[in-house]
Amino acid sequence: MKFNSRLSSMYSHIKRWHLGISQSRLALFAVTLIVFGVALGGLDPDPAREDVGFSSVLDLDLPAKTPLSASLSSLSEETPGSNGLEDEGWELVEVKPGQSLDTIFRSRGFSPALLHNILALNAETRNLKKIRPGDVFGFKVDQEGLFTRMRYSLGEGNYLLVDQSDAGLEVSVLERQISSKIYETRGSIDSSLFLAGKKAGLSDAMVMKLANIFGWDIDFVLDIRAGDRFNLIYEKLYRDGEYLRDGEILGATFMNQGEKFKAIRYEADNGPQYYAPDGRHMRKAFLRAPLNFSYISSSFNPKRFHPILKRVKAHNGIDYRAPKGTPVYAAGDGRVTRSAYTQYNGHHVFIQHANSIVTRYLHFTQRTVKQGQRVRQGEVIGYVGSTGLAQAPHLHYEFVVNGAHRNPRTVSLPAVKPLEGQQLAAFTSYAAPYLNQLSRLDSASLYASRK
Ligand SMILES: [Zn+2]
Repeated sequence: MKFNSRLSSMYSHIKRWHLGISQSRLALFAVTLIVFGVALGGLDPDPAREDVGFSSVLDLDLPAKTPLSASLSSLSEETPGSNGLEDEGWELVEVKPGQSLDTIFRSRGFSPALLHNILALNAETRNLKKIRPGDVFGFKVDQEGLFTRMRYSLGEGNYLLVDQSDAGLEVSVLERQISSKIYETRGSIDSSLFLAGKKAGLSDAMVMKLANIFGWDIDFVLDIRAGDRFNLIYEKLYRDGEYLRDGEILGATFMNQGEKFKAIRYEADNGPQYYAPDGRHMRKAFLRAPLNFSYISSSFNPKRFHPILKRVKAHNGIDYRAPKGTPVYAAGDGRVTRSAYTQYNGHHVFIQHANSIVTRYLHFTQRTVKQGQRVRQGEVIGYVGSTGLAQAPHLHYEFVVNGAHRNPRTVSLPAVKPLEGQQLAAFTSYAAPYLNQLSRLDSASLYASRK
């Protein structure tokens, strides 16, 4: 399966991935996630979890996606009709590699003077000197084949229009109508989250969004089991009445090994975020893992035989094997108390956070923060390397509370301050119809799983 461009752009802001590591199974699970869909059940039954039962695989034949039911229809926007730009008569020209607007104009028999005049109209038309392969121009001509109108997409929401009238050339920017429709879908995992998402009609990007919402509570590397289920309410975006792309997840349930998590997207004061029904943030004050899960290939070993020192050495953190250069993020807001190089730690960074928590990151190939600097959760502080006492590129990560080392994979992470008072009341009434909708979906999927 290929990453599409939308998905790879998502990776750029996947910073809050909750990740767990264990000795034996990590590589397999990571590979499973990396290739998005190797059968997990068949390859790696976990002895410790046999009660969960990979044999209880559910293969629900669910409708891939159903338009929103009447109960939520008030939340749905109208799908727009035409705004006049989609009418007949546009000749569309896609820019080919090496092509300029000049060559396009010549090939259509338009004069160089016309192009010169168009480019001189304003800053936006001047930018047409910098067109790229794949860009699409629309042209209209009169009966004699003379230029009357040109349109060019300025991105998702706008067209640049140039009109030839009796008065001369006129330029305008036309907003394209983008609207959303709300859908719901249900999924059940039998081999991998991505396959289940596909069955449920979701793009990989949407599956990543889903995993990002619940990644603070659910370990998507180690904890996903056959029989886990998810339900979601999400948007699809339409431009000028035509499907454009999937939008945001508005509400979702994830049932992991019998435990149910719910999240509602809501905008309080810090932009849209996901909240549990009681107003708690889905987000925690710390990332479970300070780097992108998809790169992880190995190993947590608290009492390992140290490969270089040749003795058993207490291992006070987690080693995340990852390619050299993989960005590492500050696990939480804080201040850099150390950014230095030593023989053992190589390039390393320590961050002091609230609640007497310190996080430590070793073996960077490069540090990007200075001692004393304030950092925000998710900010890049360095890149994975193998400086110091390290055999292969990896991040050694420690989580220290009041001076005591804790297991970064299992330590309970401090919560972000929940919604309270009026904000909580506003959220509660906003969330109610979505929660009803999710409850209906939850019952439906529970019923389906028992059939
Ligand atoms: Zn280590």
